[in-house]
Amino acid sequence: MPKKKPESPEPSDALTKSLSVKCRYCGQKNAVKADYVNNAANCGRCKLPLSNEPHKKFTALHKDEYIHPADAKALAALKAIPGVDSALKKLLAWTGESAIRVSFMASAVKVTPKQCPDLYAKLQIACTTLGVEMPDLFIQQNPQVNAFTGGVEKPIIVLHSALIERLSDEETLAVIAHEVGHIHAEHVLYITAARLIEAIVNASAARLIPGSEIIKLIISLGIASALLSWARRAELSCDRAALLVTQDAHVIGRTMMKLAGGTFASKIDYELFLEQGRDFKKNYDANRLDRFWADVMNSGLSHPFPIWRVAEILEWVDSGQYQELMEKK
Ligand SMILES: [Zn+2]
Ligand SMILES: [Zn+2]
Repeated sequence: MPKKKPESPEPSDALTKSLSVKCRYCGQKNAVKADYVNNAANCGRCKLPLSNEPHKKFTALHKDEYIHPADAKALAALKAIPGVDSALKKLLAWTGESAIRVSFMASAVKVTPKQCPDLYAKLQIACTTLGVEMPDLFIQQNPQVNAFTGGVEKPIIVLHSALIERLSDEETLAVIAHEVGHIHAEHVLYITAARLIEAIVNASAARLIPGSEIIKLIISLGIASALLSWARRAELSCDRAALLVTQDAHVIGRTMMKLAGGTFASKIDYELFLEQGRDFKKNYDANRLDRFWADVMNSGLSHPFPIWRVAEILEWVDSGQYQELMEKK
């Protein structure tokens, strides 16, 4: 009996060809059922919903095209402090990049094409969409729903396990894209310094560690408060970067809802949540806004309130700036 021809992985005739969908995010070809409709199945590689809709990859995106004005203003104020760069460089030289890297290599799981391949694919999607060199990505066991980017020359991204457990695949892409946004917007050095200062101040151990002199200098020059004040506003720019990757404002909105509502999010009405965001923004005049930022800073939150962030993203979409970028050649 003749040997049965093995089935070709590539569909050969017209009928099966029409049943293959190329993932708009990662480019992987996926075989789908005859009754396939958009978003009804997920890509086998990146796990994001399959759709025939296009996904834009930016070829020459500049940070100034999407940076939030509050971020730009606060960063200019920080950079205007005499001696800020040399003080921060001294601070970071003291901890060193290798210390950050070693601590994650030892305590967290490194994402590779084989280890958590769908997360690796999502990182690749965020990087190719914004035009950023791939950083290392780590997963750290941590019940706090959070993520961060740090480093000096070579940035790394860390996602907490609770975050991945709680978010859908699209929402996880949004968080990874937000972190890649920190790299694209050239935030990494300042963000790392801000986190380090917070950690030291929170630990109340400044006098016990060798860098204490430089910490004292940074605090006395007003660098610490300017830096922390900027860091909260910088988040708004990265939410915009996340939108440029997910290309769906509601993915950002739902991510914020989960950040706001935690495990309770399944019981929250999304439309009402958006309405709350819009109301919040409407009810704050410029003076109250300043006070709000001061509250955010003092509260010790690493990211500004999710309701505020969703209001900001909606406003950016309404302004037409986002659409303009999407249509740019
Ligand atoms: Zn894919
Ligand atoms: Zn961030």
